[in-house]
Amino acid sequence: MDDKPKKIKEVTIKCGYCSHRFPSPIFFGNTAAFDTATTAGNTAQCPKCHRMIHCNRENMTYVLADDEKPGGFVGSDFPDNEA
Ligand SMILES: [Zn+2]
Repeated sequence: MDDKPKKIKEVTIKCGYCSHRFPSPIFFGNTAAFDTATTAGNTAQCPKCHRMIHCNRENMTYVLADDEKPGGFVGSDFPDNEA
């Protein structure tokens, strides 16, 4: 496996309460920072239902800057390209 940190273009958080998806208020420059952040107990507030969400691998996804197509999603059961 290639475990070198990769540049991240954007991070999205999915609210576990209302399933709303929103851009992460915390920016992660690369996958190493993302990994650290997902284990650091960060929280973010859902802009829709205003609940605090614990940021972890299950409810956060990222898009790699170097990817020609969206990808790099972590966690499971995270539908993409569906309204
Ligand atoms: Zn919510």
